[in-house]
Amino acid sequence: MADSFDLTVIGSGPGGYVAAIRAAQLGMKVAVVEKWPTFGGTCLNIGCIPSKALLHASELYEEAGHQFKQFGIDVTPSLNLSQMLAHKDDTVTANVSGIEFLFKKNKITTFRGTGSIAAPGKVLVTPESGLGQTIETKNIIIASGSEPSGLPGITVDEDKVVSSTGALSFKSVPKRLLVIGGGIIGLELGSVWARLGSKVTVVEFLDRILPGLDSEAARQMQRILQKQGLEFKLGTKVTAVEKRADGSLSARLEPAAGGEAVLVEADAVLVAVGRKPYTTGLGLEVAGVAVDERGRVRIDHEFKTNVPGIYAIGDVVVGPMLAHKAMDEGHAVAEIIAGQKPHVNYATIPSVMYTSPELAWIGKSEDELKSAGIEYKAGKFPFTANGRAKAMLATQGYVKILADVATDRVLGAQIIAKGAGEMLHEIAVLMEFSGSAEDLGRITHAHPTMSEAVKEAALMCGDGAIHI
Ligand code: FAD
Ligand code: NAD
Repeated sequence: MADSFDLTVIGSGPGGYVAAIRAAQLGMKVAVVEKWPTFGGTCLNIGCIPSKALLHASELYEEAGHQFKQFGIDVTPSLNLSQMLAHKDDTVTANVSGIEFLFKKNKITTFRGTGSIAAPGKVLVTPESGLGQTIETKNIIIASGSEPSGLPGITVDEDKVVSSTGALSFKSVPKRLLVIGGGIIGLELGSVWARLGSKVTVVEFLDRILPGLDSEAARQMQRILQKQGLEFKLGTKVTAVEKRADGSLSARLEPAAGGEAVLVEADAVLVAVGRKPYTTGLGLEVAGVAVDERGRVRIDHEFKTNVPGIYAIGDVVVGPMLAHKAMDEGHAVAEIIAGQKPHVNYATIPSVMYTSPELAWIGKSEDELKSAGIEYKAGKFPFTANGRAKAMLATQGYVKILADVATDRVLGAQIIAKGAGEMLHEIAVLMEFSGSAEDLGRITHAHPTMSEAVKEAALMCGDGAIHI
């Protein structure tokens, strides 16, 4: 029998590690159970962090080859893929070691192995080899995350037919990469390999990319990515992928609505059709923890499952599968267990797609406002009219602010721009404080910055912008 704890967290991803650290800060004796060799979960090991390392490096490669000339820098870059992958791996190592350091700093006890809930107050840890042990604990947080969804007829081998994990580690640039799914993973990782030389074809089941997102922003991003060489086949599904004797792949594409199939050749296929909650091995049935129709652990507004003393957060519960959403839930649940009354404002969770340019959004889209019958006004300012953007050759994109007609309160925003993800946060702060478009338009913004476009778009919700 191991020690006894106030709190045991199963899973050390962004949800789990933040919950553990916050609980320790609040004076709890905390244990973390993690089955992978390193901490940090999907995000740090095979998600946000490695993908952003490759997105950044491949963007620089692309710029060196195509934009530097215009800045007066004559270079011909050559790709050293193994060094680019080493940079990605080093970035992951630095980040996962950071979590190990924070666990030690906060005196959090860590257990390696699969955690399963033997009963409320008891977590069984089963390591890959050797004896298991039982942890006694007052509270349990399930933070077991998610895993890629698969497709019938397509076997992922993480070599040629890959999930996002394999697409972070291709040993050579695939000549032809077929991406199944025009969502965030498909477009981010499709961009990486297109910049490095792949001919990328994105097959999307629906008649648009980025479902759920503001449709104008999605259309604009599709146009931009097409100019970068990505090809889109919308309203199409892949029903089978076969390996040929020469090592190439043959994918069978069919219209989503039914019709004649065509065969498309590829050197690699990335399956990026969404992610599903990961609950394997947790022993939810034994503990009597309820899940919903999509396999997500059911929780109430305080992250409590139906079993007293057991909580759940992050990708394994309802809501957007985003690292910062998991982190904020981790922060909040630790405070709730400590008797505090925090809350997460799901209406102001920002999202960013780290393509080039980036697409960042928050709050309501125009489509959502229309279908809810909310009267809104839109201010849209293009970066072609922004001085800094011209100097940086970064004039693609716009800022769109959506505000309530009656109250002027900002209800949502979308930004397509270099650095959009950083720019979005002033709108997040404004929305958190229920600010108006006029408030945003009257805030002095430093000149020359890309962020001036946010001010101008806000002014366009009123009498009009200055620079257009
Ligand atoms: P996870 O990070 O999935 O962590 C769960 C952990 O629990 C894992 O370490 C797992 O090993 C462990 N575990 C599971 N079951 C057990 C068990 N029974 N016992 C012990 N341990 C267990 N989000 C963003 O916000 N921004 C991005 O840029 C971004 N990029 C992404 C790129 C890719 C390629 C992918 C795949 C995802 C990306 N995401 C991004 C999503 C983000 O990674 C997830 O939303 C986030 O990791 C969820 O955190 P979590 O703590 O809920 O779960
Ligand atoms: P997604 O839900 O964003 O996109 C999946 C896409 O695949 C959708 O467009 C869907 O219509 C399409 N699709 C589904 N079935 C299909 C089929 N049979 N054939 C063709 N297309 C099909 O999922 P994802 O891109 O896999 O990403 C998973 C999760 O990871 C997302 O929830 C996302 O929030 C998170 N993520 C976030 C970031 C970020 O924040 N920058 C980056 C990567 C991943």
